[in-house]
Amino acid sequence: MAPVEERFVGGELPRVEGALADGLISAVTVRPLDFGLHTETPAREVSAAHRALRVWAAGRFGLVVGGAQVHGARLFRADDVRVPEPAGRQAPATIRVASYDGFLASKPGILLTVGVADCVPAFLAAPARGAVALLHAGWRGAAAEIVPRAVAALGSEMGVEPAEIRAWWGPAIGPCCYPVGEEVVRALDATAAGREPGAWRLEADGGPARVDLRAALTLQVVAAGVPRDAVSSSTLCTSCDARLHSYRREQGGGGRMLALAGWAEEGR
Ligand SMILES: [Zn+2]
Repeated sequence: MAPVEERFVGGELPRVEGALADGLISAVTVRPLDFGLHTETPAREVSAAHRALRVWAAGRFGLVVGGAQVHGARLFRADDVRVPEPAGRQAPATIRVASYDGFLASKPGILLTVGVADCVPAFLAAPARGAVALLHAGWRGAAAEIVPRAVAALGSEMGVEPAEIRAWWGPAIGPCCYPVGEEVVRALDATAAGREPGAWRLEADGGPARVDLRAALTLQVVAAGVPRDAVSSSTLCTSCDARLHSYRREQGGGGRMLALAGWAEEGR
């Protein structure tokens, strides 16, 4: 895999940043920010995180798009969102759309967001066309092949060829911390990730299989025509790394990170 330079950035919006393409924001917020939705996080902390996002986005983005993910594979195209009365330069408009696990855009100034804590934040970009997709891919999303679906949608809606696409998988639960049940293995076996032993599934002697979701996504996206050397992945494990939020480590509680993707608007 081609390495994507990945770094922690502090300041008003602490985050891990990938370097997928010039001018493209591809990042995942880290602690202490907590974008928890339907979690035990106090509402004032979640409000503070959203405020930090708005402050950071002002001047870069006019529209922030997000919503509650449902571990499905539906995709929302954000280009056509009309904001009746733009809020102005200092405050991006924010819209929330429920029940979509993936977002696409091909205009600058639109920031796509998905909440994550172990699930893979999957970034696709076609720099020459200014197209970007951000997907929320846990095992159910991977089983529903949300990433290959996004490759297809970038093609049908924006004329993007798979060969133009670059991909980055952000921080997510690693195979070190992800023992799964048979139903997960069966669901992923049935996808383009294939069944090759060791490719994404690590068998333990007598124990449950452990799954490398990001390796499975790589196999899927390469099968969809994206060049393997255009795919790179964070190696950070959300459960191992205390700077990150992890649903499993916190046994279902804990907070949420926000994955961010979009082309910043020059001179906004
Ligand atoms: Zn781990």
